[in-house]
Amino acid sequence: MSLTGVINGTVILPDRLISSGMVLWESGRLSYAGPERRVRRGLQLEDAAGGYIAPGYVDLHVHGGAGADFMDSTADAVMRGCAAHLRHGTTTIFPTTTTAGPALLLEMIDACRAAADLQKRNDGFSTIGGVHLYGPYFAAEKSGCHDRAACRAPESVEFERYFQSGLVRVATCAAELPGAVEFYRAARRRRCLVTCGHSNASWTEMRLAFRAGMRHVDHFWCAMSSVPSIRQRLGTPMQGSMAEFVLMEREMSTEVIADGCHLSPELLEFAYRMKGPDRLCLVTDCNRALDMPPGDYIFGHQQSGTPFSSDGKVGRASGGGLASAIVGMDHMVRQMHANTTAGLPAVVRMASLTPAERAGLQRKTGSLEAGKQADVLVLNRRLQIRRVFVGGRLMHQSAD
Ligand SMILES: [Zn+2]
Repeated sequence: MSLTGVINGTVILPDRLISSGMVLWESGRLSYAGPERRVRRGLQLEDAAGGYIAPGYVDLHVHGGAGADFMDSTADAVMRGCAAHLRHGTTTIFPTTTTAGPALLLEMIDACRAAADLQKRNDGFSTIGGVHLYGPYFAAEKSGCHDRAACRAPESVEFERYFQSGLVRVATCAAELPGAVEFYRAARRRRCLVTCGHSNASWTEMRLAFRAGMRHVDHFWCAMSSVPSIRQRLGTPMQGSMAEFVLMEREMSTEVIADGCHLSPELLEFAYRMKGPDRLCLVTDCNRALDMPPGDYIFGHQQSGTPFSSDGKVGRASGGGLASAIVGMDHMVRQMHANTTAGLPAVVRMASLTPAERAGLQRKTGSLEAGKQADVLVLNRRLQIRRVFVGGRLMHQSAD
C-alpha cells in the first residue's frame, strides 16, 4: 500500500496548529501541509481520526533500545535499536557512543554505516542521521554511568579516524581536557554539532570552547559543572560554570531528559523558559532497556560495558545514581507537554526541528514543510504513536 498523505488531523507546525488539516507527499517528499482541501480522486489517504499529524522526531542523544546498545557494534544491534525508537516516533536517530577504546569505537561507526546502508536498501531511506561521538572525551570525575577507566583527553591521531568516517555529526568533549580546543575546531571543520558534556568546565574554559565552535551542552544539569563544583575545583572568587554560560549565551543550545525521573517539572519549565524552543532539545538518552522487562542490563557494549538495573521507569547504577533513561521520545513529548507551559507546537519543535537545526539537517527533515522528506507521525489525542512514516513509507502502525 503506498499512501500519499494523511487527512483529518490537527497538523503540528513549529509555530502553530492547523485544525482540520492534512499533509500530502509525492515520491517521499512533502508537497503540502495545511488546511484540508480537495485532492484528486484515487489518492490513498490515511485518516488521523481527529488526532495529530506531527513531524517525525529527531533524537540527538540515544544509546539503544529493545535489548540492543549501539555500542554492541553489529549492524543487527544498530538496526534493532533504530527500529525500537522508530516505534516511539524517532525517524532521525543519532546512535551515541559510550566511553570505550578506539577499536570498539571504530567498530561501532562501521556498524552504523552498515545499518544505514541496509535501511536504505530495504526502505529507500535511513533513519540514521549520523553518529554522536559522545564518549570517550569526558572528565573522569563526571563520567556518570560510563566506564571511568576509558575516559581520556582527545588526541588528533585518534579522533581524526572517527571524523574521517564522514558519519560523525555530533561531537562531544569536556572543555577542560587538554586538546579540547583542537577537537572542537576539527569537529567544526566537519560541520558537526559541537558539544561539551560530562564536564566540570569553568566559565573561562567554556568561553575558549565557544570560540573554537562549541555550541551545545549535553543533558542540562546532568554530569555538568555548577558554581559550587567550580568553587570546589578552583576556589574563590566563585566563578561561572557550564550552567551560567549556557543560560547567558543566546547561541548556546542544550537538551533535557524529560522522562520524569531525571528532572523535576520546575527544572523542565526553567530550561524551557530560559532557552526557548529554538535552543532547547528533547533527547531520550535511552539505553537498551527500552521496551524490555525490569531487570539487570549492561550500559554500553554487552561484554565490556557497565552493569545497571531497570526498575521499569529509569536505569539505576549500582551506587544508586541514574544510569540514563529507558523510555522513547513519545514519552518525553507527553511529559514535557503535561509538565510545562510549553504549547504543543513548541514541545514538538524541541523534539524535531530544533535538534534537526542544531545537527544541520533542517533542510531535509524536522518539520512538515513542502520539499522536506515525508517523515510524518500520526498521533492520537493523548499524543500516543499510531502511525510512523519515513520518506512517505509506512514503517510502523500501532496494534489498535
Ligand atoms: Zn551522559
